[in-house]
Amino acid sequence: TLDADWAERWIRRTADAVVDRRDELTELDREIGDGDHGENLVRGFRAVVAKLDARRAEAEEPGASPRLVGDVLKLTATTLMSTVGGASGPLYGTAFLRAAKVTGHPEIDTRTIVAMLESALDGITARGKAEPGEKTMVDAWTPAVDAAERAAGEGDEADALRAAAAAADAGSTATIPLVATKGRASYLGERSAGHEDPGARSTALLLAAAVEALG
Ligand code: ADP
Ligand code: MG
Ligand code: MG
Repeated sequence: TLDADWAERWIRRTADAVVDRRDELTELDREIGDGDHGENLVRGFRAVVAKLDARRAEAEEPGASPRLVGDVLKLTATTLMSTVGGASGPLYGTAFLRAAKVTGHPEIDTRTIVAMLESALDGITARGKAEPGEKTMVDAWTPAVDAAERAAGEGDEADALRAAAAAADAGSTATIPLVATKGRASYLGERSAGHEDPGARSTALLLAAAVEALG
């Protein structure tokens, strides 16, 4: 089973990944948006890491209660919502908030990991109302959830996460030919085709970090 230490490694690795890939995310967003996606996520995840550092100091005090995956994801959600100005802040914030709701117990098994990913996608859809094919992060999350559900049939939580990350990566690449009909990129109409969606790419980075955090 996966624990709060895994969740914390996941979020810290995501922070490292968005710093490493900031220029690429910014460039993708410059092509079909306003060029701030890299900066938005670096600001957001740096703030989350600062909160995790502060919380870790508290957790080391005697008598502190054990942490849950859901605690880490909830802290991530509220911090992203309050620090990321762009569309991606509330979208990822809602995703992590819904994911936190199904991971607030100690036994995080394969079914819970699948439920976590499904809940994240439900949150993004509830918030942004995008359907698959509209050239948004939903085009990475949807195949990721499908792949995790399939992998969970015969595998464990690591298999589910690996399948999700691989599918998100492919789903992001598959946004290139699409015409955007949601978000800022939709202002470009047909001219949005031929570019990868920045939020789909950051979703692929996020899920790759969840796999790397398995250790
Ligand atoms: P902004 O567009 O406000 O500058 P960001 O650049 O941080 O915000 O994020 C842009 C990303 O947000 C897009 O690439 C897309 O993946 C995602 N996005 C925008 N609108 C929606 C929506 N309605 N549903 C899902 N994802 C969306
Ligand atoms: Mg932007
Ligand atoms: Mg913006």
